[in-house]
Amino acid sequence: MKKILYAAAIALLAASCGPGDHMDSSLPAEQRAQILLDKMTLEEKVGQMCMYVGPCYVEPGHGSARKNIDASDENLGNPDIAGKVRRGEVGSFLHVLTRDEAVSLQKMTLDSRLQIPLLIGIDAIHGCGLVAGCTVYPTNIGMAASFDPEMLEKICSETAVDMRRSGVPWTFAPNVDVTRDPRWGRVGETFGEDPYLVSEMGKHAVWGFQRSRDGYGPDGVMACVKHLIAGGQPNGGINAAPMDVSEGQLREIYLPPFEAALLEGNAGSVMAAHNEINGIPCHGNKWLLRDLLRGELGYKGLCVSDWMDIERMHLFHHWLPSLDEAFKVSVEAGVDIHMQGPDYFESIIDGVQSGRIPERMVDEAVLRILEVKFRLGLFEKPVADLEDFPDCRAQHRQTALEAARETIVLLDNDGTLPLKPDCGHIFVCGPNADSQTILGDWAVPQDDDDVVTAWEGISAEWPGAEVMGFDGMIEHVDDATIAEAAQKARRADVNILVLGENTERYSVNGRTTGENCDRDNLDLPGRQQELLEAVCAAGKPTVLVLLNGRPLSLVWAKEHVNAIVEAWEPGMLGGRAIAEVLCGKVNPSGKLPLTVPWNVGQIPTVYNYKPMQYSRKFVWTHTGYLYPFGFGLSYTTFEYGEPSIEVKDGKGNASVSFTLTNTGGVAGTEVAQLYIRDDYASVTRPVKELKGFRKVALEPGESRDVTFDINPDMLKCRGADGKWSVEPGDFTIMVGSSSADEDLKTLKLTVE
Ligand code: BGC
Repeated sequence: MKKILYAAAIALLAASCGPGDHMDSSLPAEQRAQILLDKMTLEEKVGQMCMYVGPCYVEPGHGSARKNIDASDENLGNPDIAGKVRRGEVGSFLHVLTRDEAVSLQKMTLDSRLQIPLLIGIDAIHGCGLVAGCTVYPTNIGMAASFDPEMLEKICSETAVDMRRSGVPWTFAPNVDVTRDPRWGRVGETFGEDPYLVSEMGKHAVWGFQRSRDGYGPDGVMACVKHLIAGGQPNGGINAAPMDVSEGQLREIYLPPFEAALLEGNAGSVMAAHNEINGIPCHGNKWLLRDLLRGELGYKGLCVSDWMDIERMHLFHHWLPSLDEAFKVSVEAGVDIHMQGPDYFESIIDGVQSGRIPERMVDEAVLRILEVKFRLGLFEKPVADLEDFPDCRAQHRQTALEAARETIVLLDNDGTLPLKPDCGHIFVCGPNADSQTILGDWAVPQDDDDVVTAWEGISAEWPGAEVMGFDGMIEHVDDATIAEAAQKARRADVNILVLGENTERYSVNGRTTGENCDRDNLDLPGRQQELLEAVCAAGKPTVLVLLNGRPLSLVWAKEHVNAIVEAWEPGMLGGRAIAEVLCGKVNPSGKLPLTVPWNVGQIPTVYNYKPMQYSRKFVWTHTGYLYPFGFGLSYTTFEYGEPSIEVKDGKGNASVSFTLTNTGGVAGTEVAQLYIRDDYASVTRPVKELKGFRKVALEPGESRDVTFDINPDMLKCRGADGKWSVEPGDFTIMVGSSSADEDLKTLKLTVE
């Protein structure tokens, strides 16, 4: 009944406004925004720029709906949230966890003078995982390993349905940070180290979320591309640490994914980064947020702050001498929405009234916010109707399973995999064997019945298997449990270790990766290495399955374990996909979206390094990667025929073709890769850069011709004069199965 009354109130509101009013949906969004802005007081305008955290999220042990939202007086230092909404002093919320909560909050706006609906956003990073009951898909690093942007688009489109069903029309995703330091805990939520791969994934994610290639509207959710910029290589690998970056690196490595997702993808919003670049915190960086983003790139959408980062320009960066100054500078830089926290509202109002902040800047921000709300259809339906976004849970879970199958990378295999159905007694062991860490970061604990852990997947394939799960706690690997595992391993015929990192954001104990979980080494955390060695000492065939959001430099494992399966954080159905790979029902096809370093001391170890990087070697150790970017084994083998090139003109238009053959005994899918090197240029160029990839499925013995088109855009570089051009000369064109030189066939292309 209540719901019906609410819908009726919205309908009445729309009907009570005549043509030419902001509720006239026949008018363009920009015009409606301007009409509404003209009616607003300063307080109402600044209210639109304020975002707070959903009351249920602030509850201890959140995830369950709070009964009485009006009672949410203490909301992370923001008292009287309900009163603020009713006075029209709140424009948006983040982390609203249930549809009921979204409806209650939106209903409160009906008490405000102008009844402007709230814009509600959430971190739906790989599915709407912060909402209990939604489908949790593999995390982004695994999706990047799939080299399947279309699959990601499908996932994001399904995520949009789950979000709209829970009343949320805005996701703080995709994260298109190019990751060049694996100590950083957020690697799992990124698409890896390569600008081209990140760009492709980011763009498709936006298209998926927005359910359109032309922008966002009522049929999807608005994407937020983050974090502008260069936080993926923080000093020391620590989240939010400063970044010094040359303009060349900024424009060639970190900016392209933003250009792709914002301009080609048509994302509606962008989020500034925690970090500074070259001494200027991003949230107050006018060059970055105004001159480059809006001026040079022509971006017209919304800019939201990251969590309390405006305050941090004063409190942490020690850049601006007061909070008032920080708030003012953020507005001047073009940050439209303040994510969370007290003081902002009063400070901006005071700033305008005292003449410190031009009201025109507030108007600009509010116009952008209102335009978003009109475009998303919030004035007509603040919370989408369930009928418009039908429950497709079964289909979403099927997608999550299919995606997980594609993310898994086979790193090593001496023939032990796939395991036979009758391989004898299997012992499955490790803190990640039977744990929800399989979900990845940005997920609340989900109903156990909805999640297939690694152990559950394996035991469905081999019903007699035995497990030792350490209660899902890395800390529970100790002398006693290691001894017990060693004993069980001796009795088994095959041992499967499920080790790695822990991402469980909300269980607090023992998390080792994810946001604000940075590490100073890339070994197995805790005493897992000892566990691994003890189990291997049993001398039985041993398979290591890794569940981790960042690469681990497992030199010992590479030498001593029979097979290594990199499963990343494969999501809710991940355990089933792992088991299917182990038994050979699925032939792994994932490829590394980042370099696995030999050890932590060699970071940065990206594949697209400059030519002089390894002219000298480290003493007493191997120099270079443990596994290269683009690498991944299969249960079959692929042969690349000699490539040939067809040159179309002297300007860089050409195509390179080769025959790819499945030379093994089972069907498989190969990710064929194209790399290009500019041999000599006015600035030093990387030894190779990924410029294309193609997934090719082949039956045993089958061959297929593969052609990559090359165009001048793929050959351009930012020269010594700071201008982009194709510099005449030779280019090395490389095609093959990974970025390693030995996996590539090369030929030359000359540009006149
Ligand atoms: C993260 C953002 C995220 C925000 C809201 C911040 O700490 O850096 O990526 O969107 O929190 O959860």
